[in-house]
Amino acid sequence: MALPARTLSASTGLGWRQAARTFPGYAPPRARAARALSRAMACRQEPQPSCPPPAAGVAACYDYLVIGGGSGGLASARRAAELGARAAVVESHKLGGTCVNVGCVPKKVMWNTAVHSEFMHDHVDYGFQSCEGKFSWRVIKEKRDAYVSRLNTIYQNNLIKSHIEIIRGHAVFTCDPQPTVEVNGKKYTAPHILIATGGVPSLPQESQIPGASLGITSDGFFQLEELPSRSVIVGAGYIAVEIAGILSALGSKTSLMIRHDKVLRSFDSIISSNCTEELENAGIEVLKYSQVKEVKKTSSGLELCMVTSIPGRKPTLTTIPDVDCLLWAIGRDPNSRDLNLNKLGIQTDDKGHILVDEFQNTNVKGVYAVGDVCGKALLTPVAIAAGRKLAHRLFECKEDSKLDYDNIPTVVFSHPPIGTVGLTEGGWDPHAGNRM
Ligand SMILES: Cc1cc2nc3c(=O)[nH]c(=O)nc-3n(C[C@H](O)[C@H](O)[C@H](O)COP(=O)(O)OP(=O)(O)OC[C@H]3O[C@@H](n4cnc5c(N)ncnc54)[C@H](O)[C@@H]3O)c2cc1C
Repeated sequence: MALPARTLSASTGLGWRQAARTFPGYAPPRARAARALSRAMACRQEPQPSCPPPAAGVAACYDYLVIGGGSGGLASARRAAELGARAAVVESHKLGGTCVNVGCVPKKVMWNTAVHSEFMHDHVDYGFQSCEGKFSWRVIKEKRDAYVSRLNTIYQNNLIKSHIEIIRGHAVFTCDPQPTVEVNGKKYTAPHILIATGGVPSLPQESQIPGASLGITSDGFFQLEELPSRSVIVGAGYIAVEIAGILSALGSKTSLMIRHDKVLRSFDSIISSNCTEELENAGIEVLKYSQVKEVKKTSSGLELCMVTSIPGRKPTLTTIPDVDCLLWAIGRDPNSRDLNLNKLGIQTDDKGHILVDEFQNTNVKGVYAVGDVCGKALLTPVAIAAGRKLAHRLFECKEDSKLDYDNIPTVVFSHPPIGTVGLTEGGWDPHAGNRM
């Protein structure tokens, strides 16, 4: 669904502080007010969006209300606070979001663990005395969890230092005339509200694949207490490739089930082919043209019924017994369904991604979205940069401040790792005048 250009104009109305002042309960500290005043003098003044008084029962009103304390939300709130805004962040789980708790950070710890294992394997050939390589999953899990929990505390302290209020709980939009959210029965509002609620791993429906819920996702991977002895990872994207590589390097007998014949199909074909080959060289069984049909629990683990449909051949059914880790890495769904977006009329695509223009504006004035919930370039630095750029536009009057989504570099923590930036061969359009 395309957003009408008119409703998604770049302009949000400058002089944000004026808009905020129309809210009862707003009282900027003196120092911030002085900084904001000098900035406001430099800003072009435009008519302000009229902000009717919030409905009765509003607990607090801020300059900037951010829903989601993950990569994008925290970065945007902190930058806004540096620029003098009175900001609050609503978070329903742990501060830091996906990246810190169940994404980049613990993933990278596990990738480093896997790389240690690979190096140890080669030590003797490089002249080092053989070393005792007994590996304990429990030890690294404990250390990794402790590291993540230190980061949670650091994120909390950073918010406190920046005078950003932390509201714990799940935010939903209300029916109030002014965009307002409710958390644990209390209402909060602001002239600028950012949705940075990220996403969650997708799971197949039980109606499509009976027994699918017996499997885990990347979230469950970080809860595993033991190294699984037999793993089947379903998916061909970077998360599937990375987790399969980690489990295999650490000693789990690992299969990677893919619907076509190569992994990373949205990357350049040379990367896609080489990575598929390297996975096989590393001892991972790549089950091509294959899909899970059914999952059953048995006394020795899970039993998977798999159908393989090689083009031009009759489909075959195979059973994979004794699987103790079935992991779905088949994509991510935006965290937008439980926000009551319909109460405000915020537009989404059919998957639930919030539709925004190039300035991160939704179709509702004063409501913005950044990061994974928008479904574009699902990466931490992208969410951070978009959030910061937005803060500069809203609170520093930098009208043109927006993220350029072209040429975003990305890394896949495979073995060896892959780095890529720019157009793919397939994405090159000779008629558009693109240059490789
Ligand atoms: C396994 C894995 C590995 C990854 N590895 C990398 C990597 O190496 N490099 C990289 O750049 N990216 C990586 N990513 C992607 C990266 O984690 C995300 O792109 C990034 O976290 C998105 O940030 P965000 O701010 O959009 O959302 P998130 O960081 O997910 O934050 C959203 C926050 O909103 C909260 N929330 C949701 N709904 C509500 C609500 N209604 N009320 C209150 N709070 C709410 C959630 O609890 C969450 O804390 C990885 C992801 C995964 C799953």
